[in-house]
Amino acid sequence: MLLWFAMGSLAAATLVAVRWLLAGPDSLGRARAFPVVSVVTLALLGGGMLVPVVRHHRLESRLDSAASALVGASARVNCQTAGQQLLDAGAELGYVRYGPDGVPDHETLIKRAQCRALASYLRSGKEDPDHDQVVAVHILGHEARHMAGTKNEAEAECEAMQRDAWAARLLGATDEQAHRLARTYWLVVYPTVNDTYSSPECRPGGALDERLELAPWAAAQSGLR
Ligand SMILES: [Zn+2]
Repeated sequence: MLLWFAMGSLAAATLVAVRWLLAGPDSLGRARAFPVVSVVTLALLGGGMLVPVVRHHRLESRLDSAASALVGASARVNCQTAGQQLLDAGAELGYVRYGPDGVPDHETLIKRAQCRALASYLRSGKEDPDHDQVVAVHILGHEARHMAGTKNEAEAECEAMQRDAWAARLLGATDEQAHRLARTYWLVVYPTVNDTYSSPECRPGGALDERLELAPWAAAQSGLR
């Protein structure tokens, strides 16, 4: 929507300038003054509206590459726009659609607040991520597990938690920063998620433990940092 307004303003600026060019001198033969104010205002308006559009697009392509690595196939991340947010009544923080055959789309919608937190995480030094940033990095990984084919919420949640360090690495964290983020999710956030998303088997040695090297509870990593 914003893109159309931006393009419209830039087109209008061009139109006003072209009309001036084609109009030639006035009826008394005097050169017409260039409509500076209209052209500059319209061009600035259009350019100004393009900034968030470009930023949104850059964030999405950055998240696309992280999600594709997590899924193991090309995946697309759509960040919810302000317009979509107004019409949104769902409580979930991200969403993946499943086709009638039960096969998930390799495409996810991430809610506006979580996309903003991901953007601020990407910009940050990643040393001390806040609660929203930790959750947002995990949401990206959680939706990636759905895109990879895990339907059950508790399983997707547990698989994602065991890959949180990987997700953080893909977004630019160092190994240590990534490991700390994953431990924060496991120790602070996971105990607060509701029953649909949690499982007593999601623990070291539990049925859902995939024994991944990057798991937040992996002995090799947990050490005494
Ligand atoms: Zn889910």
